[in-house]
Amino acid sequence: MDATARLIELLGVDRVRTEPIDRMVYAKDSGVTAGEPAIVVLPETTAEVAAVVRIAAAFDMPIVARGAGTGLAGGAVACPGALLVVLTRMNQIVMVDEVGRTALVGPGLINLDLSHALVGRNLHFAPDPSSQQASTIGGNAATNAGGPHCLAEGSTVAHVLGVEVVSADGEILMLGGAAPDPPGYDLRGLMVGSEGTLGIVTQLLVRLTENPPQTVTMLIAFDDINDAARTGSDIIGAGLVPAALEMMDHEMIVAIENFVSAGLPVEADAVLLAEVVGHADGVAEEAGVIRSIAVRNRATDVRVASDEDERALLWKGRKSAFGAIAQAAPDYYLNDTVVPRTRFVDVLGEIYAIADRYGIRLMNVFHAGDGNLHPLVSYDASQPGMTDIVVEAAHEMVCVAVAAGGTLSGEHGIGLEKRDLMDQVFTDVDLDAQARISQAFDPARRMNPGKVLPDGARCFDRPSS
Ligand SMILES: Cc1cc2nc3c(=O)[nH]c(=O)nc-3n(C[C@H](O)[C@H](O)[C@H](O)COP(=O)(O)OP(=O)(O)OC[C@H]3O[C@@H](n4cnc5c(N)ncnc54)[C@H](O)[C@@H]3O)c2cc1C
Repeated sequence: MDATARLIELLGVDRVRTEPIDRMVYAKDSGVTAGEPAIVVLPETTAEVAAVVRIAAAFDMPIVARGAGTGLAGGAVACPGALLVVLTRMNQIVMVDEVGRTALVGPGLINLDLSHALVGRNLHFAPDPSSQQASTIGGNAATNAGGPHCLAEGSTVAHVLGVEVVSADGEILMLGGAAPDPPGYDLRGLMVGSEGTLGIVTQLLVRLTENPPQTVTMLIAFDDINDAARTGSDIIGAGLVPAALEMMDHEMIVAIENFVSAGLPVEADAVLLAEVVGHADGVAEEAGVIRSIAVRNRATDVRVASDEDERALLWKGRKSAFGAIAQAAPDYYLNDTVVPRTRFVDVLGEIYAIADRYGIRLMNVFHAGDGNLHPLVSYDASQPGMTDIVVEAAHEMVCVAVAAGGTLSGEHGIGLEKRDLMDQVFTDVDLDAQARISQAFDPARRMNPGKVLPDGARCFDRPSS
């Protein structure tokens, strides 16, 4: 029996896809790279995932885990001959513990569906990537996703207490758990952000966060983007950690307004969306400090959302940014890089200059609070060579951020996209240590091969000089 026949015997013909059209559907994530899987499977239980992995091992097939495919770094793109394991059918909420504030969920559960299921219980799942209506919690854990409200709450790793994992040889492990500070190595922390290279996450014990008693959302407008950038940096410098601190430039504001009419000031060169949460007195005081920092940095308007509807509309605008830019051109490249907040002004200047030099259309929408820049290029991929030009410009922007003391990615991960830039931030010895970890979990290099670590990352892979 070949691998397809064995998989059909296990899952049934409906959940094993080999037709060209099916393989094409799963060829891409939301980034710019593509690669057709050999076989696509849709398991529904951990036992099925383990059996699938054992079949792949028997036929020496590479295995690529996939959630919703909203990743932007090519992490879920199949390498040649790969078995693509799509986890979207494992989307159960197995248990909610309101007292312990945890939930046990399947990896295919859509992020926002968890918070929707918690309505009325005064709890929510805090990581809120802008893709939260579509991306899965398994994918969020695999990429250690961030989001506007991760500034104060921490990215996904701070909200995943334990993970059940199917290892490269088909064994089922439980890493971490409900106990605070479990003994031994923190393999849970290692699994979060490992982009499917160390195993397949089949269940997650996640932390639930209490809804804040009071929320103040402020929209702050500026005539000069540098003033907005300085304000973002000064707010954090003053010792405040707002729940969210997002920035949008003029082009982005106009695109969003044309798309959803969120009430953003289209004449502004940039806006900051700041949110503070907590008890009434503290919130009022924090909002007052933010206002005075903004005014000192020449803000032209500071508006506080008057009710929940206005607040929701402002956030709808922010989270519609990537839909909004479809008006400008059919394709986009969403870059992800991090700079020290004190370097915002000069790095942003260099990034716009790179876009001008390449003749590409750039918009900026980003998490100003944690220095996570998202230069967004709007372009037409059907123009010959255009994607290559855009990727080259984007890599230059990342290099500028790294040179300013930043790093390659704040939240989207490395995947295929930035694999070959890893040596910009890691020494050979650093990369070797990471490769040895991967080797320990996956000696046959079957789990999502070719992602995250550049070829030859292990020192002993390299020719001696
Ligand atoms: C419009 C838009 C907005 C976005 N905004 C944000 C944002 O604000 N913050 C942010 O962090 N990201 C953002 N992203 C990127 C993306 O949504 C996140 O990386 C998300 O966490 C990916 O989840 P997914 O389910 O789509 O995973 P996929 O894209 O399917 O996979 C991503 C990676 O995770 C691995 N993986 C998936 N599931 C598992 C599993 N169960 N076990 C092991 N490995 C697995 C895959 O192999 C791959 O390496 C955005 C993307 C889009 C398109």
